[in-house]
Amino acid sequence: MIIYGTNGAHVHTTPLPGVACPRCSAPEGIQLSVFSRYAHIYWIPLFPYSKPTVAQCGHCQQVWDEKAMPKEVRSSSQALKKQTRAPFWHWTGIGLFVAALGWGAAVSSQDARANAAFLAAPRAGDIYTVRSTEDTKNYSLLKVVSAKGNTVELVANEYQINNSHPLSDLNSPEKYSRKPFSLTQFELQIMQNKGEITDVDRLGN
Ligand SMILES: [Zn+2]
Repeated sequence: MIIYGTNGAHVHTTPLPGVACPRCSAPEGIQLSVFSRYAHIYWIPLFPYSKPTVAQCGHCQQVWDEKAMPKEVRSSSQALKKQTRAPFWHWTGIGLFVAALGWGAAVSSQDARANAAFLAAPRAGDIYTVRSTEDTKNYSLLKVVSAKGNTVELVANEYQINNSHPLSDLNSPEKYSRKPFSLTQFELQIMQNKGEITDVDRLGN
Protein backbone atom coordinates (compact mmCIF):
# COMPACT_ATOMS: atom_id res chain seq x y z
CA MET A 1 0.00 0.00 0.00
CA ILE A 2 1.25 3.43 -0.92
CA ILE A 3 0.51 6.07 1.70
CA TYR A 4 -0.01 9.48 0.21
CA GLY A 5 -2.07 12.61 0.81
CA THR A 6 -1.78 16.29 1.49
CA ASN A 7 -0.61 18.36 4.39
CA GLY A 8 -0.09 22.01 5.22
CA ALA A 9 2.35 24.17 7.12
CA HIS A 10 2.34 27.75 8.34
CA VAL A 11 4.76 29.92 6.34
CA HIS A 12 4.38 33.53 7.34
CA THR A 13 2.31 35.93 9.50
CA THR A 14 2.41 39.70 9.24
CA PRO A 15 0.39 42.56 10.78
CA LEU A 16 -1.77 44.67 8.47
CA PRO A 17 -1.32 48.28 9.59
CA GLY A 18 -3.88 51.01 8.96
CA VAL A 19 -6.89 48.74 8.72
CA ALA A 20 -9.59 48.64 11.41
CA CYS A 21 -11.34 45.35 12.12
CA PRO A 22 -14.59 45.24 10.12
CA ARG A 23 -16.23 43.35 12.99
CA CYS A 24 -15.11 45.04 16.22
CA SER A 25 -13.56 48.21 14.74
CA ALA A 26 -10.34 47.77 16.72
CA PRO A 27 -7.57 49.71 14.91
CA GLU A 28 -4.37 47.93 13.86
CA GLY A 29 -5.64 44.56 15.06
CA ILE A 30 -5.55 42.49 11.90
CA GLN A 31 -2.89 39.92 11.00
CA LEU A 32 -2.49 38.04 7.74
CA SER A 33 -1.13 34.48 7.63
CA VAL A 34 -0.07 32.38 4.65
CA PHE A 35 0.08 28.59 4.70
CA SER A 36 1.50 26.22 2.12
CA ARG A 37 -0.30 23.00 1.22
CA TYR A 38 1.72 20.18 -0.28
CA ALA A 39 1.23 16.67 -1.57
CA HIS A 40 3.17 13.97 0.28
CA ILE A 41 4.01 10.34 -0.23
CA TYR A 42 4.94 8.40 2.92
CA TRP A 43 4.99 11.85 4.60
CA ILE A 44 7.82 13.05 2.37
CA PRO A 45 6.63 16.34 0.83
CA LEU A 46 6.57 16.05 -2.98
CA PHE A 47 5.54 19.51 -4.15
CA PRO A 48 3.47 22.48 -2.88
CA TYR A 49 0.22 23.17 -4.73
CA SER A 50 -1.62 26.00 -2.96
CA LYS A 51 -1.15 28.87 -0.52
CA PRO A 52 -4.27 29.42 1.57
CA THR A 53 -4.34 32.78 3.30
CA VAL A 54 -6.34 33.84 6.35
CA ALA A 55 -6.89 37.12 8.17
CA GLN A 56 -7.44 37.27 11.90
CA CYS A 57 -8.31 40.08 14.27
CA GLY A 58 -6.12 39.91 17.36
CA HIS A 59 -8.73 41.78 19.34
CA CYS A 60 -12.02 39.92 18.71
CA GLN A 61 -10.32 36.74 17.31
CA GLN A 62 -12.54 36.69 14.21
CA VAL A 63 -10.94 34.66 11.40
CA TRP A 64 -11.68 35.12 7.68
CA ASP A 65 -10.60 32.68 5.02
CA GLU A 66 -10.05 33.81 1.43
CA LYS A 67 -13.67 33.40 0.38
CA ALA A 68 -15.02 35.42 3.27
CA MET A 69 -12.23 37.99 3.38
CA PRO A 70 -13.54 41.61 3.86
CA LYS A 71 -12.68 43.87 0.92
CA GLU A 72 -10.48 46.17 3.12
CA VAL A 73 -8.16 43.20 3.60
CA ARG A 74 -8.46 41.31 0.33
CA SER A 75 -5.90 43.15 -1.86
CA SER A 76 -3.21 43.09 0.86
CA SER A 77 -3.89 39.42 1.39
CA GLN A 78 -3.53 38.69 -2.33
CA ALA A 79 -0.28 40.69 -2.50
CA LEU A 80 1.15 38.82 0.49
CA LYS A 81 0.15 35.49 -1.00
CA LYS A 82 1.89 36.39 -4.27
CA GLN A 83 5.19 37.31 -2.61
CA THR A 84 5.25 34.34 -0.21
CA ARG A 85 7.11 31.29 -1.46
CA ALA A 86 6.47 27.76 -0.29
CA PRO A 87 9.41 26.56 1.85
CA PHE A 88 12.05 24.59 -0.06
CA TRP A 89 11.42 21.46 1.98
CA HIS A 90 7.96 21.22 0.41
CA TRP A 91 9.84 20.26 -2.79
CA THR A 92 11.84 17.46 -1.11
CA GLY A 93 10.25 14.58 -3.06
CA ILE A 94 10.67 16.22 -6.47
CA GLY A 95 14.23 17.18 -5.52
CA LEU A 96 15.05 13.58 -4.59
CA PHE A 97 13.49 12.35 -7.83
CA VAL A 98 15.56 14.76 -9.96
CA ALA A 99 18.71 13.82 -8.00
CA ALA A 100 18.02 10.10 -8.58
CA LEU A 101 17.55 10.69 -12.32
CA GLY A 102 20.83 12.61 -12.46
CA TRP A 103 22.62 9.88 -10.52
CA GLY A 104 21.24 7.20 -12.84
CA ALA A 105 22.35 9.15 -15.92
CA ALA A 106 25.85 9.65 -14.46
CA VAL A 107 26.20 5.94 -13.64
CA SER A 108 25.02 4.83 -17.08
CA SER A 109 27.33 7.24 -18.93
CA GLN A 110 30.23 6.04 -16.75
CA ASP A 111 29.30 2.45 -17.64
CA ALA A 112 29.18 3.32 -21.36
CA ARG A 113 32.64 4.94 -21.13
CA ALA A 114 34.05 1.88 -19.36
CA ASN A 115 32.54 -0.40 -22.04
CA ALA A 116 34.07 1.69 -24.84
CA ALA A 117 37.47 1.69 -23.12
CA PHE A 118 37.44 -2.11 -22.59
CA LEU A 119 36.36 -2.70 -26.17
CA ALA A 120 39.12 -0.44 -27.53
CA ALA A 121 41.78 -2.45 -25.66
CA PRO A 122 40.59 -6.07 -25.40
CA ARG A 123 42.14 -8.38 -22.84
CA ALA A 124 41.91 -12.14 -22.33
CA GLY A 125 38.98 -12.79 -20.01
CA ASP A 126 36.84 -9.85 -21.17
CA ILE A 127 33.23 -10.90 -21.60
CA TYR A 128 30.89 -9.31 -24.13
CA THR A 129 27.13 -9.50 -23.69
CA VAL A 130 25.67 -9.96 -27.17
CA ARG A 131 22.14 -9.69 -28.39
CA SER A 132 20.79 -12.03 -31.03
CA THR A 133 20.23 -10.17 -34.30
CA GLU A 134 17.02 -11.99 -35.25
CA ASP A 135 15.43 -12.28 -31.84
CA THR A 136 16.49 -9.21 -29.89
CA LYS A 137 15.12 -10.54 -26.60
CA ASN A 138 17.76 -13.26 -26.37
CA TYR A 139 21.21 -12.61 -24.99
CA SER A 140 24.40 -14.60 -24.88
CA LEU A 141 28.09 -14.11 -24.14
CA LEU A 142 31.39 -13.96 -26.01
CA LYS A 143 34.62 -14.44 -24.08
CA VAL A 144 37.97 -13.06 -25.21
CA VAL A 145 40.62 -15.81 -25.33
CA SER A 146 43.43 -13.65 -26.59
CA ALA A 147 44.04 -10.31 -28.24
CA LYS A 148 46.99 -9.75 -30.53
CA GLY A 149 47.36 -6.61 -32.58
CA ASN A 150 44.08 -6.00 -34.28
CA THR A 151 42.77 -9.55 -33.97
CA VAL A 152 40.67 -10.79 -31.10
CA GLU A 153 40.10 -14.50 -30.51
CA LEU A 154 36.81 -15.33 -28.86
CA VAL A 155 34.76 -18.29 -27.75
CA ALA A 156 30.98 -18.15 -27.96
CA ASN A 157 28.72 -19.23 -25.14
CA GLU A 158 26.49 -22.06 -26.36
CA TYR A 159 23.41 -20.83 -24.49
CA GLN A 160 21.01 -17.92 -24.87
CA ILE A 161 18.68 -16.51 -22.26
CA ASN A 162 15.91 -13.96 -22.22
CA ASN A 163 17.73 -11.62 -19.83
CA SER A 164 19.86 -8.61 -20.74
CA HIS A 165 22.31 -9.46 -17.92
CA PRO A 166 23.14 -13.11 -18.65
CA LEU A 167 26.54 -13.09 -16.95
CA SER A 168 25.61 -14.80 -13.69
CA ASP A 169 23.63 -17.55 -15.46
CA LEU A 170 25.87 -18.29 -18.43
CA ASN A 171 29.43 -17.49 -17.42
CA SER A 172 30.77 -20.92 -16.49
CA PRO A 173 33.63 -22.49 -18.49
CA GLU A 174 31.72 -25.60 -19.61
CA LYS A 175 29.05 -23.46 -21.27
CA TYR A 176 31.49 -22.02 -23.82
CA SER A 177 32.36 -23.57 -27.16
CA ARG A 178 35.83 -25.16 -27.41
CA LYS A 179 36.41 -23.71 -30.88
CA PRO A 180 37.65 -20.14 -30.90
CA PHE A 181 37.00 -17.76 -33.78
CA SER A 182 38.50 -14.41 -34.68
CA LEU A 183 37.09 -10.94 -35.11
CA THR A 184 38.94 -7.71 -35.74
CA GLN A 185 38.64 -4.86 -33.28
CA PHE A 186 36.92 -2.94 -36.06
CA GLU A 187 34.26 -5.66 -36.35
CA LEU A 188 33.70 -5.55 -32.60
CA GLN A 189 33.32 -1.79 -32.79
CA ILE A 190 30.68 -2.17 -35.50
CA MET A 191 28.84 -4.73 -33.39
CA GLN A 192 28.75 -2.29 -30.51
CA ASN A 193 27.56 0.56 -32.72
CA LYS A 194 24.75 -1.64 -34.03
CA GLY A 195 23.71 -2.55 -30.48
CA GLU A 196 24.71 -6.19 -30.89
CA ILE A 197 27.22 -5.87 -28.07
CA THR A 198 25.28 -4.43 -25.15
CA ASP A 199 27.78 -4.71 -22.30
CA VAL A 200 31.45 -5.37 -21.64
CA ASP A 201 32.65 -6.90 -18.39
CA ARG A 202 36.23 -7.21 -17.20
CA LEU A 203 35.97 -9.47 -14.19
CA GLY A 204 38.38 -9.64 -11.30
CA ASN A 205 39.54 -6.03 -11.48
ZN1 LIG B 1 -11.94 42.46 15.57
